[in-house]
Amino acid sequence: EVNDSPAYDVSAKIPAVAHPLAEKPAEIASNISYHAKFSPHFSPFKFEPEQAYHATAESVRDRLVQQWNETYRHFHKVDPKQTYYLSMEYLQGRALTNAIGNLNIQDAYGDALKKLGHELEDIAEQEKDAALGNGGLGRLASCFLDSMATLNLPAWGYGLRYKYGLFKQRITKEGQVESAEDWLEKFSPWEVVRHDIVYPVRFFGHVEVNPDGSRKWVCGEVVQALAYDVPIPGYKTKNTISLRLWEAKACAEDFNLFQFNDGQYEAAAQLHSQAQQICAVLYPGDATENGKLLRLKQQFFLCSASLQDIIFRFKERKLGKGSWQWSEFPSKVAVQLNDTHPTLSIPELMRLLMDHEGLGWDEAWDVTTRTIAYTNHTVLPEALEKWSLAVMRKLLPRHMEIIEEIDKRFIAMIRKTRTDLESRLSSICIVDDNPQKPVVRMANLCVVSAHTVNGVAQLHSDILKSELFADYVSIWPKKFQNKTNGITPRRWLRFCSPELSSIITKRLRSEQWVTNLDLLAGLRQFADDADFQAEWFAAKMANKQRLAQYIERVTGESIDPHSLFDIQVKRIHEYKRQLLNILGAIYRYKKLKEMSAEERKNTTPRTIMFGGKAFATYTNAKRIVKLVNDVGAVVNNDPDINRYLKVVFVPNYNVSVAEILIPGSELSQHISTAGMEASGTSNMKFALNGCLIIGTLDGANVEIREEIGEENFFLFGATADEVPRLRKERENGLFKPDPRFEEAKHFIRRGAFGSYDYNPLLESLEGNTGYGRGDYFLVGHDFPSYMDAQARVDEAYKDRKRWLKMSILSTAGSGKFSSDRTIAQYAKEIWNIKGCPLP
Ligand code: PLP
Repeated sequence: EVNDSPAYDVSAKIPAVAHPLAEKPAEIASNISYHAKFSPHFSPFKFEPEQAYHATAESVRDRLVQQWNETYRHFHKVDPKQTYYLSMEYLQGRALTNAIGNLNIQDAYGDALKKLGHELEDIAEQEKDAALGNGGLGRLASCFLDSMATLNLPAWGYGLRYKYGLFKQRITKEGQVESAEDWLEKFSPWEVVRHDIVYPVRFFGHVEVNPDGSRKWVCGEVVQALAYDVPIPGYKTKNTISLRLWEAKACAEDFNLFQFNDGQYEAAAQLHSQAQQICAVLYPGDATENGKLLRLKQQFFLCSASLQDIIFRFKERKLGKGSWQWSEFPSKVAVQLNDTHPTLSIPELMRLLMDHEGLGWDEAWDVTTRTIAYTNHTVLPEALEKWSLAVMRKLLPRHMEIIEEIDKRFIAMIRKTRTDLESRLSSICIVDDNPQKPVVRMANLCVVSAHTVNGVAQLHSDILKSELFADYVSIWPKKFQNKTNGITPRRWLRFCSPELSSIITKRLRSEQWVTNLDLLAGLRQFADDADFQAEWFAAKMANKQRLAQYIERVTGESIDPHSLFDIQVKRIHEYKRQLLNILGAIYRYKKLKEMSAEERKNTTPRTIMFGGKAFATYTNAKRIVKLVNDVGAVVNNDPDINRYLKVVFVPNYNVSVAEILIPGSELSQHISTAGMEASGTSNMKFALNGCLIIGTLDGANVEIREEIGEENFFLFGATADEVPRLRKERENGLFKPDPRFEEAKHFIRRGAFGSYDYNPLLESLEGNTGYGRGDYFLVGHDFPSYMDAQARVDEAYKDRKRWLKMSILSTAGSGKFSSDRTIAQYAKEIWNIKGCPLP
């Protein structure tokens, strides 16, 4: 098995180690060889793509570590205010192509690898996605880190280092099957363990009162939080910031040697095993009491470790600089909570300030509320976190005391200053003391305690202000803001579609659009230009071909790149309405069957692709996955039809799959029930890649349509303000379904797609009310206007010039959706921080 590539000879002399910042391919090749030899993760006799990937990644990491050390040394010296972004999820995807791209060294690395007998693209494919997230919220956090680094902001991301992350999805005849995603199995070269950065995190125990009346949380279980740092390079800047991920571990002394020697092996390692559970998986099932406890433990673990670290850094910078006050803390520290998952940061910061640093309540409250800001991501009642009082008291007795005190003071303030709101107290206070099921409402705790609360798209922020948080708005009108989400143009255009990027750069005569996305507006003047349209068509076709090859490789299905590529990829959820899409596909199939061969030739051939994971215990979502696959099995094997229609389910949707699907898309579906999708971010990625959207007036769709022009957007469906009335009408039996909708459902019931029992799924769309019934998501109401919009899509696609013009205008109008814009707004309007570039 000795590798016979002449470029790699293990018996050769030790390569002269080049500088980590080497620019020349020969020196880079030498760096890579050095790592293959001296930090080997495999036997040294191979230099196949897997080994080459690890050695290449380590050589890139050297460079990042160098820049990273310089960046933080600089931050330490300048001591600017810093932002700390706390998120339970990060969907980082692959790091190698992104790092090489941001460092602008792709050509040198490509050449270096060629010298060693490899292609950069093949090497990059070896990397497993870091799947420490679930969907949009996690990917948003990752786009934000890229923008923070690119804008040279003094910032840190904090998260958890899940061993298995989000599950891997396989599709079988039974539907979705989940298995553990072992992204760390063969070591991740992108993380650096910091054995010197360890904090104790306590659970359970009880509260004791000290002789001076102060309080102390004692006993219980203590685990260690150990830091792993992931470097985040900015684009074309030396600044490289850090994503700090915490791992839970027990100490050696927690291993009971006495028990072990007594043969009680499991008991001996019990504390170690409990610690390991904390960072085992993202979102462990929470149907059981144990599951709930574990999730809460994860959240607290993130908050406590991160805040101890933040306080440590603050004190470290203050020491030796003369006298200082805790009241200065908010002028040095901004903490952003990405949704309510890190809400325990609020009582934890209070506790650390009062019980460890000796501050009084008022002083601690002042510091905490001036430090913390909260981003809301959902208005769905079932997604607003509530924690049982009993579980909270058991796991975090001291925090529960603090939360109750915050609540008590809030209620007293309302009674004193806002008697008009007294009748609303039961819904706006923090602890819901319903005797059947007392809970802590985390969103309420955030709104009461944070200095700023923001929604993630204009419509969403408006709904927060006018509905969910309306009472709070009347108390603190200035607390509420909108920050429309964004995406990084680097990963989501520059790197994932080099073809499109290069013709854009050629037309705009500069690559500045990569950091100033508004410049894409300059493409508008070329939207009708025949030469530019031809280049655009060729670039999109190259991406479609690459996508078709991928589909064939992972599903065995061959798809026609000349058909309209129509994609819906996102978490499978009833509110996102994949069911509307598949019912539309079913209706299309039935109509095609009824046509003559001649008539079919006049239709627009389509390939409808679906992708996304269903939460393991979400039964209806799993039924939807099964239905899509069953429809595909019939349609794709129907020789009369499969030239005109294919339905494909792309398994295991993740960031790397998105990077292939999105550039190759022509139409994408963002069809949630209006008012239910806070923002969406894949809609922005598709639009940026010249893909047209069929969608409802929901989330950021509203702003995308404004930016790209309503004539370039296929709109349908009820609006958010109509939804409550339509639901009422349904409940009162006033809804008359469209015959096309009935026909599609009937076709499933007749067994056109096999004998699986789809009744529970179909029943969710029927009846007037009841659990899982009554079409809460208004699929039936929106079906006819959806089908009409799809007919407009078919017509538009027949006119290639018109379609290409719309596609170019879509990209040209996407400038607003850069996460650079979003982050610049957070920095200015919420965090009050400024860029701190390395000199
Ligand atoms: N999952 C992955 C892997 C993504 O890349 C994205 C966004 O691009 C999402 C989920 C979120 O998708 P959506 O905004 O459609 O919910």
